[in-house]
Amino acid sequence: MRCIVCQGDDVEMVDVQEQVRFGSDIVCVPLRTLVCQTCGERYYDRRTMRHLEGIERELDEGKVALRDVGRVLVYG
Ligand SMILES: [Zn+2]
Repeated sequence: MRCIVCQGDDVEMVDVQEQVRFGSDIVCVPLRTLVCQTCGERYYDRRTMRHLEGIERELDEGKVALRDVGRVLVYG
């Protein structure tokens, strides 16, 4: 497929860490999805979108065990 952002044709299935906002925290969710290797645009299919929505719901309901892996700091 061609990237709709940069028209590049190097779009590959790769492992990424999607960042999901949870209050003032960010939760990294490992995913496998299509990413343009030229501009970095990510493409999510319907299944992946549903998967992410499910995770957001589980976070809201407090059903997920989360691990601290570091801090997110704001400069200034
Ligand atoms: Zn692109």
